[in-house]
Amino acid sequence: MVIKPKVRGFVCVTAHPAGCAAHVQEQIARVQAGGPIARGPKKVLVIGASTGYGLSSRITAAFGSGAATIGVFFERPSEPDKTATPGWYNTAAFTTAARAAGLYARNFNGDAFSDALKAEVLAAIKADLGQVDLVVYSLASPRRTHPKTGVTHKSVLKPVGQTYSNQTVDPDKGLVSSITIEPANEAEVTDTTAVMGGEDWEMWINALDEAKLLAPGATSVAYSYIGPELTWPIYKNGTIGLAKNDLERAAKAIDATLKCNGYGRAFISVNKALVTQASSAIPVVPLYISMLYKIMKAKGTHEGCIEQIDRLFRTQLYGGGGLAFDEAGRVRIDDWEMRPEVQAEVATLWPQVNTENLAALTDIAGYRAEFLKLFGFGLPGIDYDADIDPHVEIAG
Ligand code: NAD
Repeated sequence: MVIKPKVRGFVCVTAHPAGCAAHVQEQIARVQAGGPIARGPKKVLVIGASTGYGLSSRITAAFGSGAATIGVFFERPSEPDKTATPGWYNTAAFTTAARAAGLYARNFNGDAFSDALKAEVLAAIKADLGQVDLVVYSLASPRRTHPKTGVTHKSVLKPVGQTYSNQTVDPDKGLVSSITIEPANEAEVTDTTAVMGGEDWEMWINALDEAKLLAPGATSVAYSYIGPELTWPIYKNGTIGLAKNDLERAAKAIDATLKCNGYGRAFISVNKALVTQASSAIPVVPLYISMLYKIMKAKGTHEGCIEQIDRLFRTQLYGGGGLAFDEAGRVRIDDWEMRPEVQAEVATLWPQVNTENLAALTDIAGYRAEFLKLFGFGLPGIDYDADIDPHVEIAG
């Protein structure tokens, strides 16, 4: 079939296998261009490994330091007349490239929150790798069925305690409009923390620890976001931010567990706001990202997921100089985003932007291009008019 983008709201319901493969290849080349990561990880488990920050973490570990990787994700294969999800194609491409480079790569497509999938992954680590020295926790999910209670919790993106009004953009239509979001109720706050908080990360680490599958000195990292004050009501102080506070609580508990295990460590890395499937669903944030891209590109400091994670590995995790923490014990790889001169420009432009000047004041074109790229569209060298088989196997 000939595969074209079909954008519906903040998702694209098609994905291009060759384009996704080219996107993965681009990221591999970016990591390889930086040369080997000395002292990098060797046996890595990435939970949420098929798109966004998790995929970039897996690529950086594999192609930066030759790591064996196990990837956990939740993706859909193709069906007759329906493409697979991009994470499926990304994983197929990653696995082929890793194997071609002589690297171990094994995949688990299923519910990372479940006890059953955890047991399968633990068995694979035991049989194939013995232990892991890095666990990356990079899940972004709208729901979680709790493995002990069977209750399905749904996360919401809402302010807490007060109504929030601001402007937002429909990137596809290029329309700036105001949006008012009513505050979450108590149950929604609890549910969002159950999905995006730290309990599941702790469950993974405790299960790995009990099975003695963590190498002495093993590291674990989970990703968070803080951003500028203008998004705080919907992010940092909203339901998702409260869930991230719980992730920080979990980081401390996991750090204590890993410290007992040969001086290991766990921490939160606060990453930059970037176009991913997860972030495009958050109100207001896409307009902020479009503005941020314009400002950071002009300053030559713009980064994508792969540049962020490559920098995290090279300068922090495996830089040899130890981790640089902020006052709350987090690593800040969002440092370039949060520079005062960048945020001052955002603050100046924010009240001025409207539908008419959107293209001039923001990098909405760059946002759209990045969004389509997540689904394998707009990659150089791909013939998007050519007939292509949407059915792609992930090498077993
Ligand atoms: P993403 O949507 O690109 O990736 C989510 C991953 O989770 C995918 O691999 C998906 O398959 C997997 N997943 C979802 N539900 C699953 C389930 N039940 N079982 C197994 N796998 C499942 O998201 P992302 O933006 O890369 O987010 C990853 C982390 O980075 C999140 O914690 C997010 O808050 C954080 N972060 C994102 C940004 C940003 O701007 N995108 C910024 C800072 C931090």
